[in-house]
Amino acid sequence: MAGDQAKRLSEMRAFIEPFRVEPGRKVRLPHDFDPGYTADFVKKRDATDLLERGVQLLAEYQARLAAQDTYGLLVVFQAMDAAGKDGTIKHVMSGVNPQGVRVSSFKVPSAEELDHDYLWRYARRLPGRGTIGIFNRSYYEEVLVVRVHPQLLAGQKLPASARRGNVWKRRFREINDWEKYLVDNGIRIVKLFLNVSRDEQRRRFLRRIDDLERNWKFSEADVRERQHWDDYQKAFSDVLSNTSTEHAPWHVIPADHKWFMRVAVGSVILDELVRIDPRFPEVSDDARAEMLKARDELLGED
Ligand code: AMP
Ligand code: MG
Repeated sequence: MAGDQAKRLSEMRAFIEPFRVEPGRKVRLPHDFDPGYTADFVKKRDATDLLERGVQLLAEYQARLAAQDTYGLLVVFQAMDAAGKDGTIKHVMSGVNPQGVRVSSFKVPSAEELDHDYLWRYARRLPGRGTIGIFNRSYYEEVLVVRVHPQLLAGQKLPASARRGNVWKRRFREINDWEKYLVDNGIRIVKLFLNVSRDEQRRRFLRRIDDLERNWKFSEADVRERQHWDDYQKAFSDVLSNTSTEHAPWHVIPADHKWFMRVAVGSVILDELVRIDPRFPEVSDDARAEMLKARDELLGED
């Protein structure tokens, strides 16, 4: 690796280090992570240039990932409402070949989905080898919204044995095991929690009401959900404390400044792709010889 490339890589790793949740660490939100953090970027401008470079590199790595066709990459986004999941996905993935990416947004489960085990609908949308799968919300909703609203758990038609004891501890273990299985089999995982503050969420809801062009984004249900803010912070704290593992660590991304959030998200995804280090397949001598024969044939056509 060239010297300046190695230097840039180590700078990027230092940049994302504060976002990583060390496995086993006990996280307490909102104390432990500052949603307004902007590293030492002075201006939005610095971040925009970095993002542009990141987007380009993501496209290059995606092409290699597809050609190698061995690893898949799952990127999980979780956040409170109005944290900016959609905009971040749009900006960060803007450079990549759409054939190699699939975004799945998970909403309230359908009747068919409730007729299956709780991981079923997520398993069906996992990325295949050579592709990137983005989960806009994910199986983590099963230990977040479902935990905050117990009637949702009641609607999951579980046998009594699966409702007894500590449901959430058991689900954490099942999710950790499932992720380990995926990583062991070549599906790598990046987990991002976009951490917006309560104040900033309020400002963004108000903007959705006051700015006519944003009215379509406003949902009365989001404002009602905001009343459960503290329960969600607790549920998120527990998720971060119990499901950040060596094979699939969480990253808590400061989300009060969208321009900063985008660079941070792009960097974490890029870092995982650099670690995968996908290569274009090498052509064997035999295949090369066949190719040259084909070349002669093509040239010999009249
Ligand atoms: P949005 O992402 O804003 O379009 O909203 C999707 C809604 O679906 C959110 O209110 C989520 O909490 C809800 N949702 C997602 N997954 C589940 C789930 N497994 N059970 C219940 N509600 C869910
Ligand atoms: Mg919403």
